Amino acid sequence: MFKKILIANRGEIALRIQRACRELGVRAVIVYSEADRDAKYVKLADEAVCIGPPASAQSYLNMPAIIAAAEVTDAEAIHPGYGFLSENADFAERVQQSGFTFIGPTPESIRVMGDKVAAKQAMIKSGVPTVPGAEGALPDDPKEIIRQARAVGYPVIIKAAGGGGGRGMRVVHTEAALIHAVQTTRAEAGAAFGNPTVYMEKFLENPRHIEIQVLADSHRNAVWLGERDCSMQRRHQKIIEEAPAPGIPRRVIERIGERCVAACKKIGYRGAGTFEFLYENGEFYFIEMNTRVQVEHPVTELVTGIDIVQMQIKIAAGEKLPFTQRQIEMRGHAIECRINAEDPYKFTPSPGRITMWHPPGGPGVRVDSHAYTNYFVPPNYDSMIGKIITHGDTREQALARMRTALLETVIEGIQTNTPLHRELVVDAKFVEGGTCIHYLEGWMAQRKR
Ligand code: ADP
Repeated sequence: MFKKILIANRGEIALRIQRACRELGVRAVIVYSEADRDAKYVKLADEAVCIGPPASAQSYLNMPAIIAAAEVTDAEAIHPGYGFLSENADFAERVQQSGFTFIGPTPESIRVMGDKVAAKQAMIKSGVPTVPGAEGALPDDPKEIIRQARAVGYPVIIKAAGGGGGRGMRVVHTEAALIHAVQTTRAEAGAAFGNPTVYMEKFLENPRHIEIQVLADSHRNAVWLGERDCSMQRRHQKIIEEAPAPGIPRRVIERIGERCVAACKKIGYRGAGTFEFLYENGEFYFIEMNTRVQVEHPVTELVTGIDIVQMQIKIAAGEKLPFTQRQIEMRGHAIECRINAEDPYKFTPSPGRITMWHPPGGPGVRVDSHAYTNYFVPPNYDSMIGKIITHGDTREQALARMRTALLETVIEGIQTNTPLHRELVVDAKFVEGGTCIHYLEGWMAQRKR
């Protein structure tokens, strides 16, 4: 096991990784920007190194500064968390070349999965079902693009090969709009991701977002830890997640889980990862793989009892998975609400000082957050300030606990989306379970009237 790990992230996930380190008896080095200097989790760390000014480009995305911090503190490994450099293959490579262990998959795996065209082809080869669509990247010839769209059938979705975070996608309903949409997506993708490659697939009308969590070690063992339903999304951003997915027969889930494990073995995947699928009419369609820990990992931890972040660290240290697939047991149901510092109705960010922070508690309630009374939410980063996760023997119990938890939550001084969550957890359709990815936006449109 490592003696010391550097955490190349901030906020709740930096604290989450720090907690995992403590439990493993590993010293944790935190890097921070000037905007995070006074945060408690920075003070709590065994060591802390300032890596630059508030702007991410000069701090949390600053590879030389992070690697230098690992050098001066004698850290052995670097945990990238999620976002920032977590899915940057060049970073993973530079970490390794500098003599440190990258806590994650190989740079090659990150590179393949970061290119959605390459990822999709790898999945097709590994027997994982994908969204029907044109093979490979779209050509330049408009006639050929039109021919391919006719073959796929409208509506189609044009997606950037290098896209992420819900950006770089355009739905096309008619042939008249096709070529313009392809050109615009190409131009945007070139500007935003430095890669103008786009591809086309069938646009699924009312799918759910279901994802499979996997863990693979460097000894060719791989397991899947059940699924998560992340269909409650606004602008492709998840806001509520749960495990297991309501209403999907176990054998249907098992079949896809086994495919994911087989794919991990086939591509030589190592570490924690998530296969994301759209699920419609009983069928799964792969959309992308995330080669890192995800925001919503706690719901899986609560139903399996497995600490995913500790497993990432153990795998990176060369340890074997301590369990087989058959030893993994799912117990009960878990739900997560992401708490964002934003206007609950207009969604404009609401940074600033938290004058009162009273998190919920009680049986089956977990709060992952770095916030506290008097904490200043910097305006420079993502607006998520924490997550409330509840667990129960049944979905009903997990939901009841979430309702209580949200009622107990008091956050003053800034605006948060807590009021939105309070409404959603009593919404009849959500309570029923199994809503599709467009449900939340439709619900919000109705609510305005
Ligand atoms: P990103 O990397 O930006 O998150 P994804 O490929 O995971 O991109 O897609 C993000 C979201 O876009 C999905 O959760 C879904 O809501 C929507 N989406 C992507 N592909 C399709 C599709 N073929 N049909 C319908 N919706 C899609």
